Amino acid sequence: MNSRGDVIIVGGGVIGLTTAYFLAKEGASVVICDQGKLGMESSWAGAGILSPSDVEHAQLPVDRLRALSSVLFPTLTQELKDRTGIDNGFLRCGALEFVSQALPEMSDEWHGLGATINKLSEKQARTLEPALAPNLGDALEVVDMAQLRNPRHLQALRAGCQATGKITFREETAVDGFVIEKNRAQGVRAGSEVLQGGAVLVCGGAWTDRLLEPIGCKLKIEPVRGQIALVNPGTVVFRRILIWGSRYMVPRADGRVLIGSTEEHVGFHKVPTAVAIQNLLELGIRLVPRLAEAAVEKTWAGLRPGSPDGLPFLGRVPGFENLYVGAGHYRAGIQLSPGTGVLLKELILGQPPSMPLDAFRLDR
Ligand SMILES: Cc1cc2nc3c(=O)[nH]c(=O)nc-3n(C[C@H](O)[C@H](O)[C@H](O)COP(=O)(O)OP(=O)(O)OC[C@H]3O[C@@H](n4cnc5c(N)ncnc54)[C@H](O)[C@@H]3O)c2cc1C
Repeated sequence: MNSRGDVIIVGGGVIGLTTAYFLAKEGASVVICDQGKLGMESSWAGAGILSPSDVEHAQLPVDRLRALSSVLFPTLTQELKDRTGIDNGFLRCGALEFVSQALPEMSDEWHGLGATINKLSEKQARTLEPALAPNLGDALEVVDMAQLRNPRHLQALRAGCQATGKITFREETAVDGFVIEKNRAQGVRAGSEVLQGGAVLVCGGAWTDRLLEPIGCKLKIEPVRGQIALVNPGTVVFRRILIWGSRYMVPRADGRVLIGSTEEHVGFHKVPTAVAIQNLLELGIRLVPRLAEAAVEKTWAGLRPGSPDGLPFLGRVPGFENLYVGAGHYRAGIQLSPGTGVLLKELILGQPPSMPLDAFRLDR
């Protein structure tokens, strides 16, 4: 088995896989190691909401990264579909955000991002989505809000990576250290095995600090548990994503509805709990009463990689020439993944960056 690559990527979630795909498209050979199966952690567990942001308007670095990703997503989706036949379910379905208290502020925020929004009275919102409960108040319609189906996107990325012929997958390969010579990483260690590479990129999600521990680098990325309940009413009941504070409901095209999510600091415990699922189901029924009779198909929990300031870390590890990190995307790793993949690819290949990376430096 080939264990040498131009780049070794540790962690095969959406960030590792997307970066590998962009690197391989430019001719680099990549080895991706994952301690489990590829794409089965936070990236699998997420709801797949893709918030809009516009390159012309976005000011904050993270909004510019989102805008870059918004531009890339439709092309990446189509390209992966053409190469693999897998449809990731990318859909501009729009969203209704219920914001009766702070409607003007929220509306300014969306405008600032260049998003197309409509202020709706309760009556107008219920005309758009007749299944909504009465008395939910006014809403903002976010026209360009999109979604994708995470498991399908990860399958498409995996198959897309394979189709490049440049990427080797090493699943069930837990990396436990780096091979360092002076200020260069020569590769990684996984038990008694050494995988050699010209550069090493750590995309370990919530586990990133554990991975960086042997070289004394602390980013304070912490796992933040998020739970989801999947219900199936058997028919399409509503079409737009519904946002209620930090919680939401995402209607899939086949009628299934994801109800999420929680934000819990409970270490690496990745199990759904009765009380959280009860609260999510109550919210679902409160917003859309017809869901009371829906079948509860599945519940799950995932560990988001939370960074101290909510921004991802994208850059070189200080003191090392060829050791990089792409991690800490918290609640937005799917929506930020195409831009992240392109920026990390550019950094590793020494190409001019599509946007400045200063705000995402590891030593910020
Ligand atoms: C409930 C929930 C809802 C979410 N909803 C959304 C949403 O709607 N929109 C959005 O954009 N984002 C959402 N997110 C956030 C998003 O899923 C994450 O930000 C994103 O998946 C992070 O991707 P990642 O590749 O960094 O991490 P992960 O997907 O966790 O991948 C990290 C990988 O590293 C591997 N790894 C760890 N340690 C080692 C080791 N020692 N050796 C080898 N491999 C290792 C792991 O096995 C894992 O596969 C949600 C997350 C959750 C949990």
